[in-house]
Amino acid sequence: MPYYPYLIIGGGMTADAAIRGIRAVDSDRAIGMVGDEPDPPYNRPPLSKGLWKGAPLEKIWRAPKLDGVQWHLGRRIQSLDVARKQATDDQGTVYTFDKCLLATGGTPRRLPFGGDQIIYFRTLGDYRRLRALAERGDRFAVIGGGFIGSEVAAALAMNRRQVTMVVPETGIGERIYPPSLVHFVSAYYRQHGVELLIRASAVGLEARGEKLALKVKMANPAEEREIVVDGVVAGIGIVPNVALARDAGLVVDNGIVVNEHLTTDSLDVYAAGDVARFFNPALGERIRVEHEDNANTMGHAAGRAMAGHGEPYHYLPFFYSDLFDLGYEAVGELDARTQVVEDWQEPYRKGSVYYLSGGRVRGVLLWNLWGQVDAARELIAESGPFQPSDLKGRLPRPKSGD
Ligand code: NAP
Repeated sequence: MPYYPYLIIGGGMTADAAIRGIRAVDSDRAIGMVGDEPDPPYNRPPLSKGLWKGAPLEKIWRAPKLDGVQWHLGRRIQSLDVARKQATDDQGTVYTFDKCLLATGGTPRRLPFGGDQIIYFRTLGDYRRLRALAERGDRFAVIGGGFIGSEVAAALAMNRRQVTMVVPETGIGERIYPPSLVHFVSAYYRQHGVELLIRASAVGLEARGEKLALKVKMANPAEEREIVVDGVVAGIGIVPNVALARDAGLVVDNGIVVNEHLTTDSLDVYAAGDVARFFNPALGERIRVEHEDNANTMGHAAGRAMAGHGEPYHYLPFFYSDLFDLGYEAVGELDARTQVVEDWQEPYRKGSVYYLSGGRVRGVLLWNLWGQVDAARELIAESGPFQPSDLKGRLPRPKSGD
């Protein structure tokens, strides 16, 4: 029965950041990490970005393993007993701990057909599978127009693969971009050779020899298309992995609920990363964030807290994306259904977009505008009230000396 003063459940970026957070405070006591992927922790963003632009695979690995850290890879914790401070994995190994972190992330949503023929793109294993298919095939279908769909479609198209995107909305990124930008980005993808089927739903998949035939229902219900491809990728969102926490009796509400010290309602059990729901003072509500910066920053903070050096986690994470040669950084809640104020320096090439609700700025999209994340955070923390006209020219903030 392995005993660890610190047990980390999950083997992703959050877990690795937590290990480094613990070691920043406590250089000695043993840390155990149990993760269900066969690979040690790696950076996830390059899987849909840099690796398709020539970055070497070796670059994705996180910094080397630290002393006193035991990885248990390819194992999944199946039950957690918070009173006894024990966790049991799928091979029957029981781990005991003093402090435990739930960094269990999320699982891709699946379509009701297609089984494992569809790549629900998330892990290094998924990247390897798609890369192998792209070595020998040249036609791909991508389902979903969110982060994964837009990045993977661009990645494949940049590698001269023919891509058909199937999105139920009116274009790419409709959940976060204002309509004008959805229109621009969608046109941009088409100019870059991507066939974009909008108001379209993938409804079935069947094997055609070595190929796959994807059935797509178009806006006109009488119109159905069949796309024959070498591979099908889907990015239709993730569901946070809360079952372990819920079955252990912890409070779960669209994520594992944590306080500002990142503990659950069981004081020695912490949660961080994609799975954790935490209160953010600037937004004035509990949020759950499925992006790299949150994994790194919250994971590190949780590690420090586990080792006794906790500070309130009030951080508002940023996120970013690359779409061909366009790119952005963003902070807060980007909800296209709120009042959206666009402030372009150069239409759709450079500018900021503000998301207003109740007179407060809830989110900022910095489109090809760099170095403004802190200024955007400050704006979100301001009490306002803001009118749309107050926001014009607000960012980029001039650098001191300008
Ligand atoms: P996502 O960004 O939430 O996008 C999912 C998209 O799929 C949404 O537009 C959703 O539309 C749509 N959708 C839902 N059901 C569908 C269906 N049956 N058919 C077609 N489309 C459907 O999620 P994701 O792209 O799968 O990414 C997974 C996670 O990885 C997310 O948490 C994301 O934040 C993270 N990620 C982040 C980055 C980054 O930070 N750059 C990059 C890659 C991945 P509705 O809105 O109508 O449901």
